[in-house]
Amino acid sequence: MNPFQYTRSLATAGAIQSLVKEPQAHFLAGGTNLIDLMKMGVVVPERLVDINPLPLKIIEKTVSGLHIGALATNSEVADHPLVLQGYPLLSLAINAGASPQLRNMATVGGNLMQRTRCNYFFDLTMPCNKRAPGSGCGALEGYNRMHALFGASDHCIAVNPSDMNVALVALDAVVHVKGPKGERAIPFGAFHRLPGDHPEKDNTLERTELITGVTLPASSSAFKGRVHYLKVRDRSSYAFALVSVAAALDMEGTTIREARLAMGGVAHKPWRLFSAEQFLKGKTAGVDTFKQAAAIAMQGAKAYQYNKFKLILAPNAIVEALQTASA
Ligand code: SF4
Repeated sequence: MNPFQYTRSLATAGAIQSLVKEPQAHFLAGGTNLIDLMKMGVVVPERLVDINPLPLKIIEKTVSGLHIGALATNSEVADHPLVLQGYPLLSLAINAGASPQLRNMATVGGNLMQRTRCNYFFDLTMPCNKRAPGSGCGALEGYNRMHALFGASDHCIAVNPSDMNVALVALDAVVHVKGPKGERAIPFGAFHRLPGDHPEKDNTLERTELITGVTLPASSSAFKGRVHYLKVRDRSSYAFALVSVAAALDMEGTTIREARLAMGGVAHKPWRLFSAEQFLKGKTAGVDTFKQAAAIAMQGAKAYQYNKFKLILAPNAIVEALQTASA
């Protein structure tokens, strides 16, 4: 690991200024992803600005829904009564990720900033446009079993690895950030980006901006009764999703009033299935309806040499998740 300086920040403004002053400084929260990347030489910061003392841990009800501080750990969020009661889909998704030890350290802000788990990104001997812009994409013609079906480009076909993000996009979360120019709120669907010509950029956050929290609208708690997070992976725990589905239904009898659907493991960002949601509105819940919704959701999917199995796995996972949620 390269040598680096360490600063412990006691105030949000000071933490942001540290990044303004030093172009190679990074925020440090739980460190569960960043430290791995530093050990492998993928990220080489000259300074870590430890933000753990900042007052960004609170989880509380607001007039418009629920506020979750960026430094709340994944375990604290998943186990919090307000989350379990109003937004159980988020608890299910968080608990499907990583291991208990990692969830005890990892923060909400850090989870949003997780880097891809594409093997070529971690291998310094291989080309990777995300790690070294302009070097090429090793996965495009390589072993691309874990890679994207939607929204990829010839510059990058990686996927976002987070489970939490899949639930947050389905629940219409908003990301709150603070930077040298002030504060702004970013709708969750606009936070992560598609790779396009610049796969080195995972999201729309400026380098000197700090995530302060995430809010969930009260309207999303209408889905608390019928939710499911289905994660298909190579082993039953501590593995990233081949495909995951967050499904939430608001139903009256057997009729679907509203649906929320999103997939993980299929795109550079958590992938909301708006067309399928629209199709489900007003329909009677049942396997035939769910199969039609899954077919709609898969329109535009493009597989690569080793991930063609996802073209079958993904629609089946959507049907299974909807059946479980509606049961
Ligand atoms: Fe790098 Fe993206 Fe290609 Fe993976 S898919 S090698 S992260 S550019």
